[in-house]
Amino acid sequence: MSIRRITVIGAGQMGGGIAQVGAQAGYEVTLHDMNAKALAQGMEAIHKRLTRAVEKGKMNIEARDATLERLTSSPDLTEAAQEADIVIEAIVENMEVKTEIFRNLDVICPAHTILASNTSSLPITEIAASTKRPERVIGMHFMNPVPVMKLVEVIRGLATTDEVYHTVEMLAKQMQKEPVEVNDFPGFVSNRVLMPMINEAIYTVYEGVATPEAVDQVMKLGMNHPMGPLTLADFIGLDTCLYIMETLYEGFGDSKYRPCPLLRKYVKAGWLGKKSGRGFYVYD
Ligand code: NAD
Repeated sequence: MSIRRITVIGAGQMGGGIAQVGAQAGYEVTLHDMNAKALAQGMEAIHKRLTRAVEKGKMNIEARDATLERLTSSPDLTEAAQEADIVIEAIVENMEVKTEIFRNLDVICPAHTILASNTSSLPITEIAASTKRPERVIGMHFMNPVPVMKLVEVIRGLATTDEVYHTVEMLAKQMQKEPVEVNDFPGFVSNRVLMPMINEAIYTVYEGVATPEAVDQVMKLGMNHPMGPLTLADFIGLDTCLYIMETLYEGFGDSKYRPCPLLRKYVKAGWLGKKSGRGFYVYD
């Protein structure tokens, strides 16, 4: 099956990046968000990133303008998704909210449309079960920041067909990404390995072992990580980190995945990291 039109749902950090790389790869892309302000900000951020690429000599003006011409936005879900060949959902990491949007998309989209989720950890099989087309539902897990990071974890649900898998694999390659096939288990591979490390780093702050700066220094200088785990947590979003830990904890029923109380406290306080201006660090 060939893809021409992509609809991206959610214009936050991830959705904006996915829409951008889709349009850069030559697809007609529509970006949707239920929040008009977030949608406008998402479109503006794409515009800024492409203009910066032109200024840095990484892209010419014609390519930027052609990319922007392929990109539209709509605050109306039906208008945004009714002609899509694939929908890539990148809304909040919450099963109830995601399944509700998948139920709606199942009604709005044509029968051939593939419904993909950029979820970081939630079971694709369960998301798929909220639709009448589980064989056309798949996980397409991009990394942050999307225009820079090469990996896309492609997650098969229990019913996902080979045809859908191969179409999505080709799409990821077309977007200049490296797809890696992963089976449907909580956290997949990336967040099952990464998130417990971040959670443990938060525990060291919670228990007074070290300051956030010291924890990040240890991991950068000692383990050669390009970014400390607490800086990375702020960058990912502490709400997203908490949702992922809860998914791991619930999914495996193993106490090693219990979210750190300090993480819960920060999320309750609205300290969500870089996107809210405060997390383990303060941002302008
Ligand atoms: P974000 O908070 O930056 O953006 C989410 C956007 O979704 C918001 O603009 C919000 O208005 C919109 N939204 C929420 N509910 C909606 C609905 N019902 N309909 C339409 N729009 C809705 O979040 P993000 O960091 O972009 O994460 C989005 C998804 O991507 C999550 O599932 C997350 O786990 C996953 N993800 C995040 C990262 C990361 O590093 N942040 C990496 C990989 C995957």
